[in-house]
Amino acid sequence: MKPDLFEAPDYYNLDELLTDEHKLVRDAARQWVKREVSPIIEDYAQRAEFPEQIIGGLAEIGAFGPYIPEEYGGAGLDQISYGLIMQEIERGDSGVRSTASVQSSLVMYPIWKYGNEEQRKKYLPKLASGEWMGCFGLTEPDHGSNPGGMITNFKDMGDHYLLNGAKMWISNAPFAQVAVVWAKNEEGRIHGLIVERGMEGFSTPETHNKWSLRASATGELIFDNVKVPKENLLPNKSGLGAPLGCLDSARFGIAWGAIGAAMDCYDTALRYSKERLQFGKPIGSFQLQQKKLAEMITEITKAQLLAWKLGVMRNNGTATSAQISMAKRNNVEMAIKIAREARQMLGGMGISGEYSIMRHSMNLESVITYEGTHDIHLLITGLDVTGLNAFK
Ligand SMILES: Cc1cc2nc3c(=O)[nH]c(=O)nc-3n(C[C@H](O)[C@H](O)[C@H](O)COP(=O)(O)OP(=O)(O)OC[C@H]3O[C@@H](n4cnc5c(N)ncnc54)[C@H](O)[C@@H]3O)c2cc1C
Repeated sequence: MKPDLFEAPDYYNLDELLTDEHKLVRDAARQWVKREVSPIIEDYAQRAEFPEQIIGGLAEIGAFGPYIPEEYGGAGLDQISYGLIMQEIERGDSGVRSTASVQSSLVMYPIWKYGNEEQRKKYLPKLASGEWMGCFGLTEPDHGSNPGGMITNFKDMGDHYLLNGAKMWISNAPFAQVAVVWAKNEEGRIHGLIVERGMEGFSTPETHNKWSLRASATGELIFDNVKVPKENLLPNKSGLGAPLGCLDSARFGIAWGAIGAAMDCYDTALRYSKERLQFGKPIGSFQLQQKKLAEMITEITKAQLLAWKLGVMRNNGTATSAQISMAKRNNVEMAIKIAREARQMLGGMGISGEYSIMRHSMNLESVITYEGTHDIHLLITGLDVTGLNAFK
């Protein structure tokens, strides 16, 4: 792969909106990605393997629980810092960002928000340091966009719960020590349970043959009469709103992360357009190529503003789920379109692993589908503005 020459576009000087702490956090993550992710990621993606050696580095840049309080091992940062870290990691690879998002927003967040003090103290410091990795089991073979229909269930056996069912498309599943699993009790109410690797009847087969997020490990969670200790139930929130609260946090991170992927594609295409000669001129001097670049930087700038304002609202505690949903949908669609245009600008080289664009393009096909598909997010905005439910 080519050396990482990335220079971040900031057309509206949005750095002015960031604090010194934001910039420090962002720059540390940016340098780490250049040093530790860019040189190896293409090789791992080609081999469809997660680079486990980067776990320690992810923990060091604060990617595991950026906004979790320091008393639990988190970085104690604000939401904009969290977003900037996700942006920088996804600039390297969406699969690596997925690993960090799952750990922070889908595993640490529910333990912090819905767990009790013993659960927080037992799990959060180990998850923050990367000693333990986690995964989040919501999607099932027959229930993806409609998780409320889930059939995974648990029964109260007196001194423990008995868990049965299956989850699929679960990021980090093949190597996670801890799974936050959503299942229905005998009354049909959804609860979160912490399931640990090694519990009898719990297995995590890996999902192969992915053309997307190849550097992220994906798998199933299978529960065959798993005895879960009663103290592993998350006591402080139940119902579908509990997993959806986690998705709010993860979708916010994706809204920022997608900007990173788009910035990398734009930066690569811009540099290439000045170096690649055809008809005796740089291809960047042709109007059709300039149109692509002009549209890319415009869309990136709009997405940056959207993410920053959403970060301010998240910091204030005023961002609604529908506002977060809009930013996730808009920014991922923006990134996928830019990846496609940038790939074309590199001609044949655009499909080569010498450059990051094709990998970003394929990765974003998962990002536009997970954490709510593009269509589902359109329905969320539609419901919010009309008050009319078009889901069913
Ligand atoms: C690489 C990867 C990693 C993932 N990681 C995780 C994870 O860690 N944890 C987890 O729980 N899940 C994870 N997922 C699952 C992901 O969240 C689901 O794939 C997603 O929610 C869509 O569900 P589905 O695949 O069952 O598609 P379906 O729900 O079957 O949707 C199929 C199509 O129908 C459309 N559709 C569905 N309902 C409607 C409707 N009412 N109106 C209009 N159109 C509709 C959808 O938009 C989509 O286009 C991951 C997925 C991938 C690909």
